[in-house]
Amino acid sequence: GTGRVMMEVTGLTSHYGRIKALHGIDLQVKEGQLVALVGANGAGKTTLLRTISGVQPASGGSIRFIDSDITRLRADRRVKAGICQVPEGRRVFGPLSIEDNIKLGAFTRPASEIENGLAKMFELFPVLKEKRALPAGTLSGGQQQMLAMARALMGSPKLLLLDEPSMGLAPLLVDEIFRVIKDLKAQGITIVLVEQNAHAALSIADIGYVLETGKVLLSGPGRELLQNEQVKKAYLGI
Ligand code: ATP
Repeated sequence: GTGRVMMEVTGLTSHYGRIKALHGIDLQVKEGQLVALVGANGAGKTTLLRTISGVQPASGGSIRFIDSDITRLRADRRVKAGICQVPEGRRVFGPLSIEDNIKLGAFTRPASEIENGLAKMFELFPVLKEKRALPAGTLSGGQQQMLAMARALMGSPKLLLLDEPSMGLAPLLVDEIFRVIKDLKAQGITIVLVEQNAHAALSIADIGYVLETGKVLLSGPGRELLQNEQVKKAYLGI
């Protein structure tokens, strides 16, 4: 990375009706960084991602992305600006072929770019190439996760938001997903990763944030958080 700040979240709050889910989050993401958000169920990790992508409104605070304030920007405009979220639970279009699912991620782009993008995705996820003509619904959970990531990457996001990519996957596939995430980082994509699997996430993250009840409890380099006694006890089961 260049060390330039790509996203600056300041005092961000968000509500579900009267319930305050985010209590003033401060978060900084630099270009090329992999930032992990960890914390228990209900800590607000998903809500934070959804507030960044714009599918959940902010009730206060601000989000700056590159050179603009996007706090009140519609979700589709944020996608155009380069923010793309891969939601939890995959959500591929089961009856459509794998190839068509990937292409859907770039339907606004010219045909030549789509073919190029598709070739890149098949390089990154060889298993999807093998099965390209099959309905997406025939893929295993891990493969569907890869497909959801490939679809998101077709939009050439500047910032990729990944929500629990390892959820529900067998251990071997978890390793595979983390390999892909490391790969994306190596290609220079900036990533915010939400993970239940705190150890794996902090191991590959440049920076980690530990969330608790809608607040940032701790933040710092991933490796330092792995050594932190509080983190070890509460989130790593050590
Ligand atoms: P999980 O890993 O379980 O998804 P999380 O850290 O992502 O946890 P959130 O899902 O962001 O946490 O939830 C934060 C808080 O907001 C929790 O108290 C949760 O109960 C509440 N919440 C989340 N979604 C809704 C909703 N649709 N309506 C009302 N409250 C919600």
